[in-house]
Amino acid sequence: MLLKENVPLAPLTTMGVGGPARFFVEAMTADEVREALAYAKSHKLAVFVLGGGSNLIVADAGWPGLVLRVAIAGINHRHGHGTAFFDVGAGEDWDGFVAATVQHRCAGIECLSGIPGSVGGTPVQNVGAYGQEVSQTIESVEVFDRKDGQIRELCNEACGFTYRSSIFNTTERGRFIILHVTYALTPGGEAYIGYADLKQHFEGRETLPNLAETREAVRHIRARKGMLIVEGDPDCQSAGSFFKNPVLSEAQHADLQQRATAKGLHLPSYPALEKSRKVSAAWLVEKSGFARGYGFGHVGISSKHALAIVNRGGASAAEVLALKDQIQQRVKEIWDVALEPEPVMVGF
Ligand SMILES: Cc1cc2nc3c(=O)[nH]c(=O)nc-3n(C[C@H](O)[C@H](O)[C@H](O)COP(=O)(O)OP(=O)(O)OC[C@H]3O[C@@H](n4cnc5c(N)ncnc54)[C@H](O)[C@@H]3O)c2cc1C
Repeated sequence: MLLKENVPLAPLTTMGVGGPARFFVEAMTADEVREALAYAKSHKLAVFVLGGGSNLIVADAGWPGLVLRVAIAGINHRHGHGTAFFDVGAGEDWDGFVAATVQHRCAGIECLSGIPGSVGGTPVQNVGAYGQEVSQTIESVEVFDRKDGQIRELCNEACGFTYRSSIFNTTERGRFIILHVTYALTPGGEAYIGYADLKQHFEGRETLPNLAETREAVRHIRARKGMLIVEGDPDCQSAGSFFKNPVLSEAQHADLQQRATAKGLHLPSYPALEKSRKVSAAWLVEKSGFARGYGFGHVGISSKHALAIVNRGGASAAEVLALKDQIQQRVKEIWDVALEPEPVMVGF
């Protein structure tokens, strides 16, 4: 295990803000994870687990304890009963893994192409896009349990997946270090074209798009929205969507719809769970005076998507949070809806 000190964290995140980690370990194996945690325990250091840094805002003061970056590599796959099981190291790049499954003509995660970050980060907030979520294909998650030092296998149900949530970011937050994730995919399966953007992309086509074409379409649509990390694109220095789409009860939804109608606006919403509706956080942000391209010092709103707060160069974490607060306040004032941030706040 190589223990480093005072390692800048901003370059290890997509938002690119924040201070250093007092101590830093990059773990390539489960044994190194165990060793790093033992070191932290004996030195009474708080631990933060880092993946690809694509869903984080690090405080300007950094992290006073130990940052453990999980870098376990490897993609293994086996077939059984018409299913292809991919057992993947938590440190593998997510999009590289999606590309490999598409190359193997295995369906199930093609719509999740172009999402930055690590494989180990995907179960944490049940990553989803364009009609797919990892909860639909995760077979099991291998974890290091900090409670008793054991390595365990959690089945899909044990992960408690819901919209942008799992036990890893709610009830058991901080307990498990994800080491490997096993995905169950469908060899020779069809691409999922259920989402409006994708349907529109392939409109007029007579044959069904294959997995590779779907992956390319998703990456293309994401790039247009600044949701693909493209070198040199100022709109992608972000943490992706900054707010979750609020899930409202029928009554709350009716109230919001009334407010929108009174302003002559149409409120976009989608059925969520039984008796609830998901409304577009991007719409709420835009209709509260934060247009695409809005600037606020070194931070702003992406010129391609209202939901992404971007670092326009040289931003501090304090500026990101100030804009976040401003948006939440205005949305609450105008629409009486509380927006919940999606990224994890580290060291605040
Ligand atoms: C441009 C852009 C577009 C995005 N688009 C989407 C999208 O479409 N859909 C979506 O759901 N998300 C999206 N995201 C958010 C983000 O990419 C995902 O949440 C991603 O899965 C985070 O993985 P990560 O490895 O970067 O995790 P990090 O950002 O490093 O960490 C996020 C959280 O996961 C925990 N964590 C990470 N690795 C482990 C591990 N091995 N064990 C235990 N805990 C761990 C961390 O402690 C932290 O709490 C986007 C982000 C960006 C920047």
